[in-house]
Amino acid sequence: PPIIVAENLSKTYRTGKVETQALRSATFQVDRGEFIAIVGPSGSGKSTLFYLLGGLTSASSGKVLIDGVDFASLTDAERTRQRGEKIGFVFQRFNLLPTLTARGNIELAHEIAGTRKPLDESLLQHLSELLRIDGRLNKRPNELSGGEQQRVAIARALISQPAIILADEPTGNLDTDNSDAVLEMLRRASKETGQTVLMITHNPEAAAIADRILYVRDGQLSTTPPPPRVSRLA
Ligand code: ADP
Ligand code: ADP
Repeated sequence: PPIIVAENLSKTYRTGKVETQALRSATFQVDRGEFIAIVGPSGSGKSTLFYLLGGLTSASSGKVLIDGVDFASLTDAERTRQRGEKIGFVFQRFNLLPTLTARGNIELAHEIAGTRKPLDESLLQHLSELLRIDGRLNKRPNELSGGEQQRVAIARALISQPAIILADEPTGNLDTDNSDAVLEMLRRASKETGQTVLMITHNPEAAAIADRILYVRDGQLSTTPPPPRVSRLA
């Protein structure tokens, strides 16, 4: 069965009297091990889709099943546990704790994920080498470059081997070499470890290595690129 099933998934934000339809009746499925790029302009609903898939916000209508489980049917505690076990988030802002070293941040994330397995030291070594942060694990965030912090945040999301990786612009702050390293790691997570990767990206090279691209425009999901906007004056 597909690891992600979304049916008529919609989200409307209400701020006072203002309503924003951030996602409109999205229906799609993702198979285990797929690598999907999510492409669309700013404000089109990409982050909202991630929040819904991760159970960080509730749908206005429709539903999401993650590995057969409807997060909406769970208690807060169960949802937090499921999220910790199944989903690794790479946020645009890295949210590393400033008082902990890179290693400390990764270890804490593993504890919070609550998988009850001890941290896999050889996996940490492997991820650190692929991400080129193996010499930086004992540094605190303020001693790391933006790109290094980004890669620590990626290692942190992967250390508990979540079935699903939701990565928001994971190559956004990186030069070509480091961007390639991150993409290669996500590709391996998908093709060698069978993890499912959804990656929001503006980078055409990143989108090109995905198995499929989902396009988002004005809250609507499509498997084909939307037609270019023609000037109203033309
Ligand atoms: P993207 O990630 O593609 O930039 P978002 O999902 O962040 O898009 O936003 C989609 C729309 O929903 C935008 O119009 C945005 O302003 C609005 N939005 C997002 N989050 C909230 C929120 N918490 N409250 C109100 N409006 C929101
Ligand atoms: P919800 O109430 O649906 O759980 P939150 O208010 O927790 O959503 O916001 C979810 C995310 O959207 C947060 O990261 C927040 O910073 C961001 N956000 C809040 N308001 C807006 C907005 N008007 N436009 C874009 N993003 C927003």
